[in-house]
Amino acid sequence: MGGKCPHRKVKTRRYSHKKFRRSKFEAKGDDAVYEQLQKPDDQIKPLPLDEDLPGMGQYYCLHCDRYFQNVAVRDDHFKTKKHRKRYVSLA
Ligand SMILES: [Zn+2]
Repeated sequence: MGGKCPHRKVKTRRYSHKKFRRSKFEAKGDDAVYEQLQKPDDQIKPLPLDEDLPGMGQYYCLHCDRYFQNVAVRDDHFKTKKHRKRYVSLA
């Protein structure tokens, strides 16, 4: 009996769950985001309130297609490398 550590299994499950959530967050492809960015301002509707989304769906990063809990988290996200990279590649 070599025996697998039972804790390892739990770790793997948690990890894949997180990964699953992330892929759900970033489901929209670059093309859809790019299309959205091409629209003039008056065609972009105000963000609808959505209880299922973090921060009622009011704090949204268009470039990364992500919702945030509050304005501070969103502003923090704007400063991240990941966001800037996306911002530059979509600009
Ligand atoms: Zn972003």
